[in-house]
Order: sequence, then structure tokens, then C-alpha cells
Amino acid sequence: MGLVTRFARQWVAGETMADAIRVAKEANARGLDALVNHLGEHYREKAPVESTRREYLSLLATMQSEGVRGEVSIKPTQFGVLIDRAYALSEMIPILEATKALGRVLWLDMESAHTTDDTIWIGERLLDQYDRVGICLQANLKRTADDLDRLLEAHARVRLVKGAYQETPDIAYRTRSEIDRAYLAHLETLFTKGQDFAVASHDGRMIERALALAKVHPTPFEFAMLQGVRDPLKIELVRSGHRVAEYIPYGPNWLPYFTRRLRERPRNVITMIRSFVSG
Ligand SMILES: Cc1cc2nc3c(=O)[nH]c(=O)nc-3n(C[C@H](O)[C@H](O)[C@H](O)COP(=O)(O)OP(=O)(O)OC[C@H]3O[C@@H](n4cnc5c(N)ncnc54)[C@H](O)[C@@H]3O)c2cc1C
Repeated sequence: MGLVTRFARQWVAGETMADAIRVAKEANARGLDALVNHLGEHYREKAPVESTRREYLSLLATMQSEGVRGEVSIKPTQFGVLIDRAYALSEMIPILEATKALGRVLWLDMESAHTTDDTIWIGERLLDQYDRVGICLQANLKRTADDLDRLLEAHARVRLVKGAYQETPDIAYRTRSEIDRAYLAHLETLFTKGQDFAVASHDGRMIERALALAKVHPTPFEFAMLQGVRDPLKIELVRSGHRVAEYIPYGPNWLPYFTRRLRERPRNVITMIRSFVSG
């Protein structure tokens, strides 16, 4: 487990809030905004939800007192959406209020397709109370074109990703070319109709297209990438005048996140095994 933990460290700041703040400050020093997530998901009991709420309130206060530039991004299932969506919303309201008091943006991660409707429902209610709310949408889901139109109409910020969850073919595109095609189409929509959105991808083709669209449609947006992935590209984009956010997860419950990162790129598994062999 020690070796796995060491390998996971490239994508996870560490287990404590202090680790997250340290990595967020390093990101800021490199010109990146921090997008901090406390790891944990699929809670079906109220106790871990309530401790997650306390953790984020403390995280926001610490980001403020430590002068960290950036936002927090929360997962609906860590706020109890699997218990009840109205309950999850009520647990998020204190986070929204703290975010609003600090003038920051509150981002919602998007999890598996079982939670898409509830996440959008929650996002819209949060938007009723504060306009700086962002919601992640996944290009692998066939419904996303409609969700995108709906969220743009509600003036939500949108973070466009390819999608990290395995879904069934009736609701999701499964091949890389289909997902990429959908991602490129949604980029077009974002640049023509949206603003303050996030192009969250490490894929050179998606980034090139976003750069080309940005020339034709000058609208405020940012790139967003994960901690530990394509670091030189992040800096290159910052140097060419773009805003780039780095998603920084932390906490003891890092295994599901780590597994998603391994799964999306088989080469990472080989690199991990090599690093074990070489010690
Ligand atoms: C800021 C941010 C927030 C996200 N939030 C969510 C969310 O809320 N919900 C959700 O479902 N998904 C989320 N994701 C994950 C996303 O859905 C994808 O699973 C992930 O970003 C990989 O897709 P890609 O666009 O980078 O393209 P891919 O086609 O997977 O990768 C393109 C290239 O990027 C590089 N690369 C990609 N991943 C890695 C890696 N792990 N290690 C090293 N190199 C890599 C490789 O060069 C690869 O060839 C988020 C991603 C980012 C960047």
C-alpha cells in the first residue's frame, strides 16, 4: 500500500488540508488557480456528509486566511445526494453562503449518470441564490447537448469534461472518436453562447480547438487540468495569457479517484508497475 500511496501522490495532494493548501499555494506560484476537492463520495449516512460540510467550511476559511487563489469543487454524493437531493442541497447551502461571502465560485463535480438529474436540479437551486455557480458536464453522455443549453440559459458556469465514469451504451458514447466529436461540438456551443466556462481536458486536440475558437469568439474562459497531469502545458498556456486552474484533490479517501485516473490511461498502470519494480 505504501508504494501505491507514493504513486498516488502525483495526483493527490495528500491526506490533510495542510497538504492541499501547500499544493494550492505551489499552483498559485506557478500562475495557476487552485480548484480544491476534499475526496470522498457515495455517502449514504448523514454523519460523513456533515463532517464533509464542516471540512469545506474550514477549507474555504483557510484558503482565505492563507491567501490561496482559487475555488472549491464539491461532489454531490459527498453531500448526501444518494440519501435525498433536498437534503444534499440543504447541506450545500452553508458552503454556498461561505463561497458567496468570499466572492468565490462554487463548482459542482458531476458523478455517474445516476446523479446527473439531481446534480443539475441542485445546481439550478444554488444558482437562484448566487450567480457564481459552476456545474460539470460530461461529453460522453448523450444528454449533454440538452443539459448544456439548459445550463447556459440559466447563466451557469460550465466545466466541460470527457467523463470519468463508465456508462451504458444506451445513454453514453463509448468510443474515443464519438466522445471527442461530442466534446468538440460542445466547445463550439460554449464559445458561441457561454462565458466563464472551463475547458477541462488534457487532450491536445481539444485544447487546440479551444485556442482557435477563443481567437474568433473572445469570451472569458479558463482551462482546467488535474494535478500531476501535463504540467508543462499548463505553464505554456499561462505564459500565453490564458487562465488555467489545477484540480487539487486531498483527503484519506483517495482510492476511487486514484482508480479512475489509472483506468482512463492504461499507460499509467504500466508506469506504476515500473515504479514499483525500480523501487
Ligand atoms: C479540472 C478537471 C475536473 C474534472 N472533473 C470531472 C468531473 O466532475 N466529472 C467527471 O466525470 N470527470 C471529471 N474530470 C475527468 C475527465 O472526465 C476525464 O476523465 C479526464 O480529464 C481525462 O480526459 P481528457 O479530456 O484529459 O482526455 P483523454 O483523451 O483521456 O486524454 C488525452 C491525453 O491527456 C493526457 N492524460 C490524460 N489523463 C492523464 C493522466 N491521468 N495521466 C497522464 N496523462 C494523462 C494523455 O496525454 C492523453 O493522451 C475532470 C477533469 C479535469 C481536468
